[in-house]
Amino acid sequence: MKRARHDIITEVRARVPALNLKMNGENLVYLDNAATTQKPSQVLDFLSDALVTRNANVHRSMYELSDFSTMAYENAREKVRSFINAPSRENVIFTSGTTASINLVATCFCQRFVGRGDVILIEGDSHHSNIVPWQITAERAGAEVKVIPTDVMTGAGRSGRVAVEELEGLLSDNVKILAITQISNITGLHNPVGEIISAAHSKGIPVLVDGAQGIVHSPVDVQAMDCDFYAFSAHKIYGATGVGVLYGKKDLLEALPPYMGGGDMVETVTYQKTTYAPLPLKFEAGTPNFIGASSLLPALEFAEYLRNGEVGEAVKEEEGEIIAYMLDRLSAPGIELYGKPYDVGEKIPIFTFNIESINAGDLAQLLDKMGVAVRSGLMCAEPLLNSFGAVSALRASFAPYNTLEEAKTFIRCLERARMMLS
Ligand code: PMP
Repeated sequence: MKRARHDIITEVRARVPALNLKMNGENLVYLDNAATTQKPSQVLDFLSDALVTRNANVHRSMYELSDFSTMAYENAREKVRSFINAPSRENVIFTSGTTASINLVATCFCQRFVGRGDVILIEGDSHHSNIVPWQITAERAGAEVKVIPTDVMTGAGRSGRVAVEELEGLLSDNVKILAITQISNITGLHNPVGEIISAAHSKGIPVLVDGAQGIVHSPVDVQAMDCDFYAFSAHKIYGATGVGVLYGKKDLLEALPPYMGGGDMVETVTYQKTTYAPLPLKFEAGTPNFIGASSLLPALEFAEYLRNGEVGEAVKEEEGEIIAYMLDRLSAPGIELYGKPYDVGEKIPIFTFNIESINAGDLAQLLDKMGVAVRSGLMCAEPLLNSFGAVSALRASFAPYNTLEEAKTFIRCLERARMMLS
């Protein structure tokens, strides 16, 4: 018999202890999931158990406890491999987060393949972590960073959608790499990643995809997507902080010079010369965050639980209703929502907006007093927000464990806060 959606969502929420917290005397309504997600018990239990039963350095020792630790670390790598459908474990490198993954590629790729007069192409809706590393490495190489604009930047619209029609004209012979975003952390809009990648590949240009938000809200198959690099963070998909993943195509990863030098990334070392370990360890110098990384196994299992079967169906229905409700309420007079979709399916439940003549930070503080946690400020996407004419904004971002009821509480509290500040 089909279970009621409400019962299923209640079961999902019971697995995430932080959702029962009280803040300022109110039930916490946590709507800052684009910044980081709350952790399910299966990840919390796994982490505390690992600190007791699997706490030994990985890949180094001959004793059993160290084998347990190495096994947990490599099992998590295999889980990531299957979750994103990478061809082999050699394609999956553990880093400290999306930012670290992009910095690795920017540094190593530019060192090897980018020189004076070359161009690195990025997207107008990028997070700072997919802008700044390219600026730093372009400066070192004497290269230039160019931007695929959004419709706001070309004057064609106000959605913040990437103006893909501009791409053809930008893909000149001296473009060496294209760094794009699967789903913007401001607009919540899916970018036409497949279309962009095939346009770049037709000119022989490799593409890095920032999947920090994409991995959470859509199934990812890196082989079908045909991206050359894909980056994401564990903490945004129910795992530990300080852990990330870089997927790369094998020939490219092999062609790159190492990033950091140290233990575990070497084959042999003399005072004169070092040979490097094969992939993926070539890019994992030093003691990794092996406990955190191993938690990607239960974290991705939780993500699959939220996506599949009756739970997946219930979560999808609830999310559709949340998006429709929020879009309706945030189209009220005096509110500008950044990232209006053509239809509900084009958007994940990220809502970034401003209310006329009210400071977003003041709103966030009042909402906090009502138990509602939302982000305010620039959300690490200053150029995009500035293009909308905004110097800060308010962002409510939902996870699959959030409910329509919470969306309603948010809107009720927002209206109260707006009245108080008007
Ligand atoms: N890219 C996007 C689209 C993001 O939303 C974020 C996190 N807000 C990042 C990159 C950076 O992720 P991290 O801070 O985990 O490295």
